[in-house]
Amino acid sequence: MSEQGLSTAYFRFYAELNDFLPAEQRQRTIPYSFSGAPAVKDAIEALGVPHVEVDLILVGGESVGFSHRLSPGDRVAVYPMFESLDVSGLSRLRGRPLRRPTFVADVHLGKLARLLRLLGFDTLHANHYQDDVIVAIAAREGRILLTRDRELLKHNVVTHGYWIRSTQPVQQAREVVRRFDLAGQVQPFQRCMACNGLLKPVAKAEVLPRIPPRVAAWRDEYLLCSGCGKLYWEGSHYPKLEAHIAQILGEASDRPDGG
Ligand SMILES: [Zn+2]
Repeated sequence: MSEQGLSTAYFRFYAELNDFLPAEQRQRTIPYSFSGAPAVKDAIEALGVPHVEVDLILVGGESVGFSHRLSPGDRVAVYPMFESLDVSGLSRLRGRPLRRPTFVADVHLGKLARLLRLLGFDTLHANHYQDDVIVAIAAREGRILLTRDRELLKHNVVTHGYWIRSTQPVQQAREVVRRFDLAGQVQPFQRCMACNGLLKPVAKAEVLPRIPPRVAAWRDEYLLCSGCGKLYWEGSHYPKLEAHIAQILGEASDRPDGG
């Protein structure tokens, strides 16, 4: 097929959106050939960047929506979620921000899901979730889809998602806290790490038969999971969990300040 009839637009991706590009396309202007008048969203995804990672698109300096049709010669600047820049005068692509975010994690992110629950964030995860189920849950319940599979984020019905960069769970939790600016919303030990159920205080007498005698001797406060019935008390594993929380939040507050 000849090159005739093809037009070119010029894309530039900013900040961490470059993570999705091959090395030779990072931090530079990328010519993009197209025929007809495709939506800018399709071009962005064809270049490898999931639309859920994008928060602002400028074409010739004007902010546009995902459905903006490309014209020959368009210069397109694509930005991720801003953390400190004032963009209040520009129309951003997301609807209003989710107030207290909830998540659905893909099958490979079980440890991350447990850490997010530890921090108090409602996070669904199950080993048997198929991709289409995860996508459907994210869309139906307005949950942020967390995944290391960027293809999953390209589904049209997914409006909020994040591609996890790290392979290390504590690092992954740090990424999520930072990306969604959650450091101020952390409420540890309110949610069951195993099933995501809410933990409720329970009278010691009510659960006494389930408490190991050496624990009952010195501990009076217990939490019961409203989901799976697991019993929690402050025990020898707490310092380790608290260290995880400190690690996650310590790095989260140590953000590079763009001014
Ligand atoms: Zn539970």
